[in-house]
Amino acid sequence: MLQSQLFVKTRREDPKDEVAKNAKLLIRAGYIHKELAGAYSLLPLGLKTLNKINAIIRDEMNKLGANEIQMTALQSADLWQKTDRWSDDKVDNWFKTSLKAGGDLGLGFTHEEPITVIASESINSYKDLPLSIYQIQTKFRNEARAKSGIMRGREFLMKDLYSFHADANSLDEFYLKAQEAYKNVFARLGIGDKTFVTFAGGGSFSEFSHEYQTICETGEDTIYLDRAKKIAVNKEVYNEEVLTKLGLDKTKMEEVKAVEVGNIFKLGTRFSEPLGLLFSDEKGERRPVIMGCYGIGPSRLLGLLTEVFADEQGLIWPLSVAPFQLHLISLEKNDEALKLYDELTKKGIEVLIDDRDLSAGAKFADADLLGVPYRVVVSAKGLSAGQYEIKNRQTGETDFVPVEEFPAWVEKTIRL
Ligand code: ATP
Ligand code: MG
Repeated sequence: MLQSQLFVKTRREDPKDEVAKNAKLLIRAGYIHKELAGAYSLLPLGLKTLNKINAIIRDEMNKLGANEIQMTALQSADLWQKTDRWSDDKVDNWFKTSLKAGGDLGLGFTHEEPITVIASESINSYKDLPLSIYQIQTKFRNEARAKSGIMRGREFLMKDLYSFHADANSLDEFYLKAQEAYKNVFARLGIGDKTFVTFAGGGSFSEFSHEYQTICETGEDTIYLDRAKKIAVNKEVYNEEVLTKLGLDKTKMEEVKAVEVGNIFKLGTRFSEPLGLLFSDEKGERRPVIMGCYGIGPSRLLGLLTEVFADEQGLIWPLSVAPFQLHLISLEKNDEALKLYDELTKKGIEVLIDDRDLSAGAKFADADLLGVPYRVVVSAKGLSAGQYEIKNRQTGETDFVPVEEFPAWVEKTIRL
């Protein structure tokens, strides 16, 4: 893409009404626009990055054999009354409205209820199980504190996967596979080494749920971490009894701040029973379906990646989610740079070319702020020496690559 045509406005100053690093930087870099506290619009670069996060999650969910759907945000009170999750004293973060024609609606803060009803229309026998269905969809929660920028939205994106089983063994088996898929997602997002399975409060069906917590100084959660075992316990359930049960040693546990990027949960029959999701087993007996649910927060991840990777100069994206793979900086607006841009684009490399009539300093400052992983400078001086100057945004290292070796460099670096 030509930067002269990109809809983006970078700023040197932090917005005054934001305290979170992620919101300050994403707004300065022109990735997002603040609509109101806890609600952000995605501008082209923000949307591209979020779409890449979604693509990784989608790929791993599809590999699990899950079906993608999209449910409605609008939810009817009648349905949620059946599971006792409508009243304010049960769930305090609904956005609700009353219809003039009668009846109450809310904007879904999660989707166990509607997915259970949808599943009940197709599940009848044990032969229909197991089944897994997911969506990547907007959720609404009237969060009391919306100070963590895009990491705690009142309107945010969630990937929610639901699984349906005939028995607990089948759920356990799928749950383990889902854990593998989650591990892959976080590794591909570049935070595999910072993200830990964390034991947290469960429910009636299982003693614990598993959160995926990424170490981050500005995180709202506190976890206790055994680095050697790669296991953590959320402070909310942390006590001697839990440690003993998990075979963890208190003296080895390190207290760290973290961000919950995912949460997986065994639901059992919590929703299938009240909503009548039944199946006939091999003996023809009607039994409630056993369920699991598996969440990840893509928009929270966009903020988290900002928090953990950005530096003083601006954003830094892992190659896997960067809005562009290469940032070509054309100095003196030369034709060689445009020619190179065409060649790379034809090869399917995602290139942003700074073709604007600006000083080198201004272009470099913008490039640092936008955070594309590799910056390739095409200048008259470099060309006369037969080379391009390449800067790795993450390490800050600069390389001079001979023009004829550049295609090989691209193959090695970009096509992993
Ligand atoms: P938290 O404890 O941070 O409020 P939660 O436990 O209520 O989160 P879940 O209901 O488990 O969240 O939702 C699944 C995932 O959705 C979370 O792991 C998180 O990644 C994401 N998520 C939840 N709430 C928000 C929010 N307000 N803004 C952005 N992402 C969110
Ligand atoms: Mg959670």
